[in-house]
Amino acid sequence: MRIAMIGAGFGGMAAAYDLRKAGHEVTIYESANYVGGLASGFKEPHWDWSVEKFYHHWFQSDNHMLKLISELGWQDKVIFPRPLTVMYHKGKFYPFDSILRALLFPGLGFGLDKIRFGFVGLFLRLTNNWRALEKVTADSWMTKWAGKNVYEKMWKPLLVGKFGPFYRDVNMAWMWARIKARTTRLGTFEGGFQNFANLFAEKLRGMGVEIRLGAKVESVKREQAQLSVRADGQSVSFDKVLVTTSPNLMAKLAPDLPQSYLKGLLELKSMGAVVMVLSLKHQLSKEGYYWFNLPKEAGFPMLALVEHTNFVSKAHFGDDHILYAGDYLEVGHEYFSMSDEALLERFIPALKKINPEFERDWVNKVWVNKTNYAQPVPLVNHSKNIPAIQTPIEGLYFASMSQVYPWDRGTNFAVEIGRRAARMMMAA
Ligand SMILES: Cc1cc2nc3c(=O)[nH]c(=O)nc-3n(C[C@H](O)[C@H](O)[C@H](O)COP(=O)(O)OP(=O)(O)OC[C@H]3O[C@@H](n4cnc5c(N)ncnc54)[C@H](O)[C@@H]3O)c2cc1C
Repeated sequence: MRIAMIGAGFGGMAAAYDLRKAGHEVTIYESANYVGGLASGFKEPHWDWSVEKFYHHWFQSDNHMLKLISELGWQDKVIFPRPLTVMYHKGKFYPFDSILRALLFPGLGFGLDKIRFGFVGLFLRLTNNWRALEKVTADSWMTKWAGKNVYEKMWKPLLVGKFGPFYRDVNMAWMWARIKARTTRLGTFEGGFQNFANLFAEKLRGMGVEIRLGAKVESVKREQAQLSVRADGQSVSFDKVLVTTSPNLMAKLAPDLPQSYLKGLLELKSMGAVVMVLSLKHQLSKEGYYWFNLPKEAGFPMLALVEHTNFVSKAHFGDDHILYAGDYLEVGHEYFSMSDEALLERFIPALKKINPEFERDWVNKVWVNKTNYAQPVPLVNHSKNIPAIQTPIEGLYFASMSQVYPWDRGTNFAVEIGRRAARMMMAA
């Protein structure tokens, strides 16, 4: 078969790998001038490693990704350092990345709340019945079972940070998936995620996959026995097409989809993200903390501060200290239109709170990355609203972050859904 892939993120590349291995002719169209999609990175001339535009790491439970990397023979390039994650409580940060540390965290006191926190965590880790959990909101389930205090201290800030105005609407299966499928040890690829994406693309090219960079697809249409893909004013015919963009873009690319499918795509909710990457002259966290969970109520102007060089060595970045300051936001939030300078000014007081010695002249350079599609919002009974991978247009398939549910989006699940879509394309 002649197959087109729209998007050279990890989903599209994983699907292309399996389809090509099975002997099909594969062309990938990618609108950007690089591969890797949302997990792509950039590099300054004096850096050996790239930095992801949006902070990225793997969990030890990311089996689909780790299996793919093993198949490619690059398992020795995956590293799992043990960075420190911290929680905020009354002006101080406390390590929160093991059961012992969770037990010592003063934010929950040392009585019943801590026991409830522990039991709820254990239950969620052991149960597989996410279908029962998707029927209720995380807000109501957690308030009932973990208790108001534990919910407000631990879980509400996470929901508010990720989902803003939708935080009360997110279903409990999302919370279950986070607790079920995550580990405290975090991994990355030598050279950064972009290095992995580049190696993967090179491998695909070597196998005979054509990757067309800077090729923005305008439409995908059924024309008799074939599907016609239009990019750069040229149409090319394929037997099958897999689109890996956001649901919104899919609806624009294939307006001939039946109304019911289009409506399903357009009704899916998601959050965007604005993430600033800063290169600093000095280490921000004197304690060497990697991930700061910041509750919005404490007045921080971002959800997460992530000191990347407390995860991988600054030696890879010419001794620059790399820091992320990011937030999940509704498209239209002021951060999407603020200048980089104005956003930096907004963030500086928070950096001073982390380290009072921080000065504006510590900043070498900043880069601000924005995306409209960063985090799907799963509402109650979300499993009934997931668009099918095989669309009603014969030969046209769709695989996106919004369909990996009940799991939360991530490169691991992009690989899983990409490979699942490839199997479906071959079986049909
Ligand atoms: C802030 C943030 C933090 C994250 N943190 C992590 C993390 O720590 N760990 C983790 O594993 N995952 C993380 N993720 C999620 C991860 O990046 C995604 O789940 C994954 O990259 C999705 O891959 P994909 O192939 O499905 O889609 P994408 O990576 O979005 O790929 C789609 C591709 O389609 C291309 N495209 C779009 N329109 C067109 C068009 N018209 N024509 C041609 N090409 C087009 C895009 O340029 C893009 O390259 C994070 C995401 C964000 C936003």
